Amino acid sequence: MKAAVVKEHGGLDVLEITEVDKPTISENEVLIQVKSIALNRLDIWVRRGLPTLKLEFPHVGASDFAGVISEVGGDVKNLNVGDRVVVNAGISCRRCYECRSGEQSLCGNFHLLGEHVWGGAAEFARVPASNILKIPDNITFTTAAASSLTALTVYRMLVTQAVVRPGQIVLVTGGGGGIGTMAVQMANALGARVIALTSTLEKENKLRELGAELVINYREDEGWSKTIYGYTGKRGVDIVVDSVGEVFWEQALRSLKKGGKLVTCGATSGFGGKTNIGLVFWKQLSILGSTMSTDKEFKEALSMVFSGKITPVIDSVLPLEQIKDAHEKLESGNVMGKVVLTID
Ligand SMILES: [Zn+2]
Repeated sequence: MKAAVVKEHGGLDVLEITEVDKPTISENEVLIQVKSIALNRLDIWVRRGLPTLKLEFPHVGASDFAGVISEVGGDVKNLNVGDRVVVNAGISCRRCYECRSGEQSLCGNFHLLGEHVWGGAAEFARVPASNILKIPDNITFTTAAASSLTALTVYRMLVTQAVVRPGQIVLVTGGGGGIGTMAVQMANALGARVIALTSTLEKENKLRELGAELVINYREDEGWSKTIYGYTGKRGVDIVVDSVGEVFWEQALRSLKKGGKLVTCGATSGFGGKTNIGLVFWKQLSILGSTMSTDKEFKEALSMVFSGKITPVIDSVLPLEQIKDAHEKLESGNVMGKVVLTID
């Protein structure tokens, strides 16, 4: 089958369209004929290499994808050849205490399609049946693929970890990215008021359209936490949704009201960041980590997309053959929402 592989860790040159063996499925898996793939920041990290990631090459990346089931394993119930489906990239063992208590993303053997094992950047991909959700007829493969990882991630951050309530103020730091555009929409759909940080006028306008009531350009307003303090009547925000990490960390903590919560799911700018412990105990702040989701959160997040409450922001759609251009685009930071690849 045709696949976009990573030959070794490195720059754009290590990406190649080539022929690889079509995967064979086990009893509890399905084979998906992939139609749309959405890139995540993670795909760039996987290509460049991470200290803890040991891969066999060639590697097929991409965690977010949607397509049509073309084979079904013997033990799989309720899924059939021809079903239109989207995947949850988080793979768990399904046997340990955490998995059995419904906390799949806390599984000791948790890993991701596209990162630790082959993902969806190919004509076919094998996926455990437990990680599949059928797509309604009115939802395109591109919409489904562009939603999955960001929707399930943001849903766990906002609903489960931060327990957002209507009327609360949510600050979204990486406003223009996949997580950011999803977080602005989801917080808004859940009845929260939204403040977003971004870097260009075009992104500012789009974020307002998506429901942010205040958008701050952090390049023009370097002391943005003071602006937020003033805007909120010297109170601060209830929740910060962060995926940027180091460069915003100190100000993100400073933006919180007493009893506020910062939820982090990533650190695109670096893993450092200074924490003022005095601020944490005096203002009784919570710093919460969040990674991917449970099965239940995956379904609930995607139901918000399927019902039209949220529509993922798509920057561009390119054929799989242009995967280098897609990586380059995402790497440049000059994107608004998701970069999607399609296979005819
Ligand atoms: Zn487990």
